Amino acid sequence: MKKIALLGSTGSIGTQTLDVAEHYPDDLKVVGLAAGSNIKKLEEQIRRFRPALAAVWDKDKADILRHNIADMDTRILDGMEGLRAVAAMDGADITLTAVVGMIGIQPTLAAIQAGKDIALANKETLVTAGHLIMPLAKEKGARILPVDSEHSAIFQSLNGEDRGRIRKILLTASGGPFRGKTRKDLENIQVEDALKHPNWVMGRKITIDSATMVNKGLEVMEARWLFDVAPDQIQVVVHPESVIHSMVEFEDTAVIGQLGTPDMRLPIQYALFYPERRPLIGGERLDLFSLASLHFEKPDPDTFTGLKLAYEAMEQGGSMTTVFNAANERAVAKFLDRKIRFLDIPEIIGESMAVHTPVASPSLDAILAAERQTYEFIESRW
Ligand code: NDP
Ligand code: MG
Repeated sequence: MKKIALLGSTGSIGTQTLDVAEHYPDDLKVVGLAAGSNIKKLEEQIRRFRPALAAVWDKDKADILRHNIADMDTRILDGMEGLRAVAAMDGADITLTAVVGMIGIQPTLAAIQAGKDIALANKETLVTAGHLIMPLAKEKGARILPVDSEHSAIFQSLNGEDRGRIRKILLTASGGPFRGKTRKDLENIQVEDALKHPNWVMGRKITIDSATMVNKGLEVMEARWLFDVAPDQIQVVVHPESVIHSMVEFEDTAVIGQLGTPDMRLPIQYALFYPERRPLIGGERLDLFSLASLHFEKPDPDTFTGLKLAYEAMEQGGSMTTVFNAANERAVAKFLDRKIRFLDIPEIIGESMAVHTPVASPSLDAILAAERQTYEFIESRW
């Protein structure tokens, strides 16, 4: 029986994780849950899974939930302390981090400190604090198991391989809803247009990140930490069908990839059961005959400048990737609130990076300071 602490349980990855857990009641037990503010959904989950601990970020909502579930044994915590406590709780073997944004840094560090394995969906944590997370995981003997579909595909492609023989990682991207468009076409994009992803149903922030292709930039940074490769060894390949979830090219020219229908429950359960494979209950199988063909394109850096900025942030390194990420988080929130235009998102990222002098190997405090400064800069300008 594997015991799971689940951060971000009310979100897209969180609810799919609970689906997987429900299909395997003899193998997986959910012992901790954490969410931001959706206490209605969290209450349903608490009643279904009866975890020992649950955390709500919003303190007032946490009070309401305490009152509403007074008939249950689940203890309700709040704020960052609550998130950290669930992440590192006694009795959990693995912490699945599916909160959105760099808010995930501290709970992830706490979980690793407590010796938990990490099933990681929350890419923003590695983007900003990969240099703290990866060495700590090594020191504590904690495994970081990717949940992001591309990284799971790379991880599966590396099974039994010598990582020293990797020549290149081929990171696939659907291209999002605006593939093939020019900047001019994107001038008047509305929130509704950007929320229509062709292949995946996901949370709002990552759906916007896919439309700007900032998501792929974040994923290049994520891959670099997970697989210990240089940024120039990671090639983004636009593949609109989202059938090949990513590939690895080895020194001997072999290219190994993982294919399948787009269903996040596969990478979720692969991370939870690793190294075992289990049937994907209700999963659709890939039918190669019904796929007429697969397509591949180079990304368009002139339209999707966010991807170009991601490589620049990596090149400058240190706290610059935090600024890239924090600026994007704030800009996406403003776009979703209809305060700025779609093309302002990469603009805000670029301007935030331009005023920042990167600190090499930033400490947790320096990362949080860079985040704060970026938010202040954006608030003063937009
Ligand atoms: P959602 O927006 O659907 O869910 C986010 C979750 O995080 C919710 O449970 C939310 O709670 C919770 N949350 C937000 N802020 C806080 C906080 N301060 N404290 C505690 N909990 C918080 O996002 P997704 O599930 O789409 O994405 C989650 C992560 O996984 C992201 O990093 C994303 O990039 C990554 N990912 C997602 C994929 C997908 O298919 N969705 C694919 C690959 C990676 P509440 O509901 O209460 O607000
Ligand atoms: Mg992905």
